[in-house]
Amino acid sequence: MTSINQDRLVEHFIELIKIDSESQNEQQIAETLAEQLGQLGFEVTRLPVAAELSNGFNLYAKLAGSLEGTILMSCHMDTVTPGNGIEPVINNGIISSAGDTILGGDDKSGIAAIMEAVRAIKASGQAHKTLELAFTVFEEGGLHGSKNFDMSVVSANEAIVLDSGGPIGTIITVAPGQQNLKVTINGKPAHAGLAPEQGINALTVAADAISNMNLSRIDAETTANIGVVKGGQATNIVMPELYLEAEARSLNDAKLAAQVSHMVSTLEAAAAKHGASVNIDTERSYNAYNIADDDAFVAQIQAAFEQIAVVPELQSTGGGSDANIFNEKGLKTVNLSTGMAKVHTTEEYIAIADMVKITEFVQAYLTR
Ligand SMILES: [Zn+2]
Repeated sequence: MTSINQDRLVEHFIELIKIDSESQNEQQIAETLAEQLGQLGFEVTRLPVAAELSNGFNLYAKLAGSLEGTILMSCHMDTVTPGNGIEPVINNGIISSAGDTILGGDDKSGIAAIMEAVRAIKASGQAHKTLELAFTVFEEGGLHGSKNFDMSVVSANEAIVLDSGGPIGTIITVAPGQQNLKVTINGKPAHAGLAPEQGINALTVAADAISNMNLSRIDAETTANIGVVKGGQATNIVMPELYLEAEARSLNDAKLAAQVSHMVSTLEAAAAKHGASVNIDTERSYNAYNIADDDAFVAQIQAAFEQIAVVPELQSTGGGSDANIFNEKGLKTVNLSTGMAKVHTTEEYIAIADMVKITEFVQAYLTR
C-alpha cells in the first residue's frame, strides 16, 4: 500500500525547519502551511489568536473522506530557541542541525509526516477517514495555541497529537497536570551591621519554609520543584524580599491540588512565624489526562501500528503537551512519538527511517 515518497518527505521536512518559527513568530510557517494544505485539497481556516501570543495564527484544516470516522491530528508550529537559521545536516540517515541551533523536528517532523501521508493517500487513490488538522502556535512554554484554539470548528471527538519522542509506536495515554507558583516573600530591610535584629530576612523565611516542604519526587505520580530564586541587593542589607518560582505535577489532579496546597501553607506558616508576609500567585497550567489501556480509540491506534509491523507501546510521560489541552477541551487525545530525539537541545536529531515509519502509521490509520 505504501506510496510514501521518502525523498519528498525529507525535502518537505527540511523546507519547514528552515523557516524560522521560534515561539510567537509563527506567521511565516503558518502562511506557508496554509498555502500548502490548500494545494493538497484541504479546506483551510486561519484562526486568529491574540497579538501578544503570536504574529501568526492557529491553523485548522479539513479534508473530507469517504471512510467512516473523523480524526483530528495536531502538531505545534513553533520551536524553542535557538531555532533561527537552522542548517540541517544528513549523515547516515540521521538528520541533525549543524550544531548551533535546535533541529526543529519538534514538532515539524509531525507536520511533515501528516502531509506526506496525505500526499501518498492521494497518489494511490485510497479511501480515507475525514482528517481535521490543528496546527498550533506558541506550544513551547505554555501550550498557548491549543489553549486558545477555537474548538467550534472541530467536529472530531478523538485526536492524535504527534509531538513526542521515543521509539516509533510509543503512545502516550497518561500525562500529568501541572501547576505553577510565583512566590514573593516580603521581610524587612535593616542595616546588617548596625541593627540586624530590626530586619526580617526573606531568605531565612524561605529556608524555613523549604526545609519543611516536600519537594522532588513526592510519589509515583507526583513531583514538585523550586526552579527560580531571585533576591538580595548587598551583604550589608538584611534581605527584604525574595522571589521564587515553583511547580508541581501529578498524574492525579487531586494529588496535584494537595501538593500545591501543602506548598502554599508551608510558605504561609513560615512567613507568619518570622513576621514576614508572602504573596503567592498560583495557576493550574493544565490538567492531567489518563486514557484507559483498553480504550477503543487506543485499540484502533495499536491496530494501525501493528498493520505496519510496529509494536505499539502505551506509555505515561512527565511532560505536558497540547494533548493535555485537547483532552481538557473534550477530545480524547493521545500523543505519539515521531522519533524526535534530544529535543530542546542543539543535539536534536531524527532518523529518516523513523520519519517514514510514523508517516506510514498516519497513512495506515487514515485508510483503515
Ligand atoms: Zn513539541
